[in-house]
Amino acid sequence: MVAMAPAGRFDYLGLRTMTDHRTANADVIVIGGGLVGSAIAYGLTRHASRVVLLDEGDQAFRAARGNFGLVWVQSKGDGAPHYTRWSRMSAERWPGLAAELLEATGVDTHHERNGGFTLCLSEAEFLDRRAMMERHHRDAGNDGFEYEMVAGAELRRRLPAVGHAVYGASFTPYDGTANPLFTLHALQAAFAARGGVYRPGRTVGRIAYEGGTFRVGTGMEELGAPRIVIAAGNGTPRLAEMVGLHIPLHPERGQILVTERVAPFLDLPTQNLRQTAEGTLLMGDSREDVGFDTATTAAAITDIAARAVASFPILRDIQVVRAWGALRVLSPDGLPIYAESESCPGAFVAACHSGVTLAAVHARELGGWIMGADKPAAIAKLHPGRFDVQAPRT
Ligand SMILES: Cc1cc2nc3c(=O)[nH]c(=O)nc-3n(C[C@H](O)[C@H](O)[C@H](O)COP(=O)(O)OP(=O)(O)OC[C@H]3O[C@@H](n4cnc5c(N)ncnc54)[C@H](O)[C@@H]3O)c2cc1C
Repeated sequence: MVAMAPAGRFDYLGLRTMTDHRTANADVIVIGGGLVGSAIAYGLTRHASRVVLLDEGDQAFRAARGNFGLVWVQSKGDGAPHYTRWSRMSAERWPGLAAELLEATGVDTHHERNGGFTLCLSEAEFLDRRAMMERHHRDAGNDGFEYEMVAGAELRRRLPAVGHAVYGASFTPYDGTANPLFTLHALQAAFAARGGVYRPGRTVGRIAYEGGTFRVGTGMEELGAPRIVIAAGNGTPRLAEMVGLHIPLHPERGQILVTERVAPFLDLPTQNLRQTAEGTLLMGDSREDVGFDTATTAAAITDIAARAVASFPILRDIQVVRAWGALRVLSPDGLPIYAESESCPGAFVAACHSGVTLAAVHARELGGWIMGADKPAAIAKLHPGRFDVQAPRT
């Protein structure tokens, strides 16, 4: 049950709470203040003057707070070149986003884009990887897709600390990293600096659509807007049903280890291990289907550590100081989902499992569409309709 605010009351942020369903408090309400919702909300401030961002708060399963900080292209979109292109477009826009956020907020996202490696511990892994890189190259067509497969002395020249257990690696120049927590903070600060209203501690429990206005109930108040964006991570499917959208998402746990600070020895990130600007090493990450359980397990931690030590034997004597589990936001094919409801036009959904990588396109490419322009061609195939199963012909 949503408590209605008394008529005419102004809340502490100066937004008038709704008393009439035809009244809109905002041009657009974004539900979910993780990386996806915050990037979209920030981008929307270019297209609308009254943008409100509602977020559940610290009790939530926040993927944004658990991630590895890769801005990664080389593993994205095998068999789905439109997803590779979308990821690459974001990686290309990231330097501009990082500079803009730094200028607007003074927060350095620690973004770097100098390329990255995926290590292969056996010849079989290396050959599989090479075949995948070749598919990316073929599928990219005129866009081109540069990659290198490196092994032996060349690998050791470029990654001097690599262990003899590593057979080889793929490299692409498109990959990079950013600090995910600083990125989230910078997006929210820049959003506020452009006049956006961020409201933490608001769990949206109800969305109703009447007369072209969405009424969004948080239990503390009810807000109205002609447009809403549901970007609530693993909380999205339940909210999306309220606007007639079936969004199939499931959580997938990933565990990550972080070590004490050590002297720099790894200039470039690898897909499973990277050194942060502060000197700590992040190692990950597992892929576990365990529902909404964010616990860590000895088995996954041991596996991650063993692979890390095999990759870089220098790690044998370095202390792990923390391990955590977090939940990815995964669709059945692992690709993002972007949709506008047909039954409730003006209600949008955005969900993906690469919120750091895609932050730049979320901030720059979706705002126009949400405010009424055509859907960007780049995301045309990322509609949830792709999961509809045709009934077999009898
Ligand atoms: C182990 C791990 C490693 C990862 N590594 C990377 C990486 O290297 N690079 C990369 O690009 N991505 C990575 N990711 C993925 C990235 O973290 C996620 O894509 C991203 O955080 C998802 O962001 P989100 O905003 O959709 O979801 P979340 O971060 O989960 O945020 C959703 C928000 O919605 C809010 N919410 C939910 N329900 C409601 C409601 N009813 N009302 C109001 N608010 C609500 C929650 O409070 C939450 O803040 C990783 C994820 C994991 C788990």
